[in-house]
Amino acid sequence: MKYEEIGNYIGGKYMPSETSRYLDVHSPIDGTLLSRAPISSVKDLDKAVAAAKKAFETWSKVPIKERVQVFYRYKTLLEKHMDELTQLVHEENGKTFDEAKAEIEKSIELTEFACSLPQLIGGEILEVSKGVECRTDYYPVGVVASIVPFNFPSMVPNWTIPNAIALGNTMILKPSEVVPLSSIRIAQLLKEAGLPDGVLNIVHGDKDIVEAICDHPGIEAISFVGSTKVAKIVYARGSSNFKRVLALGGAKNHLMVLPDAHASMTASNVTASMSGCAGQRCMAASAMVAVGKVDHIIEQICIEAKKVIPGVNLGAVISKTAKDRIEKYITEAESQGAKILVDGRNTVVKGKENGYYVGPTVIDFVTPEMSVAREEIFGPVISIIRAKDIDEAIAIENANPYGNAAAVFTQSGGAARYIIERASAGMIGVNIGVPVPREPFSFGGWNDSKFGTGDITGKSSIAFWTKLKKTTTKWNAEAKTNWMS
Ligand code: NAD
Repeated sequence: MKYEEIGNYIGGKYMPSETSRYLDVHSPIDGTLLSRAPISSVKDLDKAVAAAKKAFETWSKVPIKERVQVFYRYKTLLEKHMDELTQLVHEENGKTFDEAKAEIEKSIELTEFACSLPQLIGGEILEVSKGVECRTDYYPVGVVASIVPFNFPSMVPNWTIPNAIALGNTMILKPSEVVPLSSIRIAQLLKEAGLPDGVLNIVHGDKDIVEAICDHPGIEAISFVGSTKVAKIVYARGSSNFKRVLALGGAKNHLMVLPDAHASMTASNVTASMSGCAGQRCMAASAMVAVGKVDHIIEQICIEAKKVIPGVNLGAVISKTAKDRIEKYITEAESQGAKILVDGRNTVVKGKENGYYVGPTVIDFVTPEMSVAREEIFGPVISIIRAKDIDEAIAIENANPYGNAAAVFTQSGGAARYIIERASAGMIGVNIGVPVPREPFSFGGWNDSKFGTGDITGKSSIAFWTKLKKTTTKWNAEAKTNWMS
């Protein structure tokens, strides 16, 4: 085993789990055994909630300007340990070193935003009647939970940890059981940055722990990021227990390419969007709607796709199951009459024969009923659907149940505006294939890509992680008794 066995992190200490179930963690790059992590029991969760509850008593009362000092120091530590953290993400997730580095850089940006929270959460105050004032103050919610997926082992935990904790909450993090290593380093660095014990706790596990989080009476709010199937379960179960829940789900992002689009810029953006992180991004291009005559752009996309080399500038997919699923989608599309222009099936990387690789795949003449047009594939595959005009393209985009992102490629401002207004997605790109809003803008989709109100990052997350207190005060005798009348 390359790294030590992982334990839960509760009250600032590594705790052996109450479980006898463990999961081996293999690197998708080449199958190396990296570590093993507990599939924890409900007793582990009880201990974590107790630690978080105790820490909340003091942490929630620390002024926010002092709380964010921890995150200033944490940011410096992320910078100092950049290479080591990058290597860990690369190894446990399988994405390329450069992609893993971009993830740590994004974690730094998220932390910078948390450091700016004191500037953003000043309440309001107004004299509402003679001698009477109303004011608002933000209070933390309490013990909160963050359940995260495999595809961003550092960035997605950092979507929630800095903001939730800087705003005075204490947290239970439930990492993905297939990438549990980066979260442990996050906890270690936060401790080094001065975060008091018990403010962040980590419980490793699977479905059972997620369900226990949804049911636990000591947890006030849950944020979830993962597939739509599980997002719906968490949203329904957590809400039925009267918790605040924000659950981000899967995606099927459509890029609409118009004939006047800049050909080389469009081709490189489409290719980068569908193949970056091996297509395992909720913001990845999955379907391209080719509007009218765009064959010259499709030809260039194929040229660009062939420059994406598995094991060099294309990482591994997470597991054999994922590789098999992606390849099955391609084969199904082929048998239904679609044309495979670039085929990534049966990819083996020399020297990494135990890794899980799928090459970039371009499928043309996909029709809206095919499974590659309808379902999230989560691999480096782009399905090209032909449309005769912009309205047909919009109808195709609108018909998909997801709504994370959509993009348009054109040189026409008018056409772009027309699509921006009609696309049914929360994040829109214009000549941008991965339209992730940067801080302080917030991240979140629509439709089956998100359940709950508000977004998970940026200014919008403040409302999720806080409760607003409204105080009305009268100091002067001159104020009327029935001042509202
Ligand atoms: P997943 O839904 O399988 O797992 C997410 C979390 O839920 C993990 O911590 C896992 O342990 C837990 N889980 C899995 N099955 C469960 C079940 N039946 N009941 C309760 N908990 C369960 O997702 P994943 O495979 O880790 O990640 C990929 C998915 O996440 C994709 O669908 C992707 O689009 C989505 N994603 C969405 C966003 C977004 O912002 N919308 C961001 C990243 C990833």
